Amino acid sequence: MIKKRDIILALGLILLGIVCYGVIRLGQKKGSQVIIYEDQKEIGRYDLNTDTTKEIQTAKGINILEIKNGMAYVTEADCPDQVCIRMGKISKTGENIVCLPHKLVIQVEGDDGQKSEYDNR
Ligand SMILES: [Zn+2]
Repeated sequence: MIKKRDIILALGLILLGIVCYGVIRLGQKKGSQVIIYEDQKEIGRYDLNTDTTKEIQTAKGINILEIKNGMAYVTEADCPDQVCIRMGKISKTGENIVCLPHKLVIQVEGDDGQKSEYDNR
């Protein structure tokens, strides 16, 4: 038998989850740099606020990275799944685009001293 108290508790937990999610989303800062990793090694770093188009040559293929209006996205790639193109635009700290076939990660980072796990190597 479901008690009224249980329902209130469940609703409270759901509400708490929504609030936490909102806080996390708001906590995401607009990034300032786009860092390119191939096979977990940094191969490039670009300013997110400077519009540019970069051809990223990996061991497995090519990705075309476009940086425009503070957003980074892949416009072209010769990987078989094209998932990296479908991932769309990223602009906030911690957001990333992954191209699994090319072992490529494109990650947005801020300049507030926050370091990624890769920086510690
Ligand atoms: Zn891809």
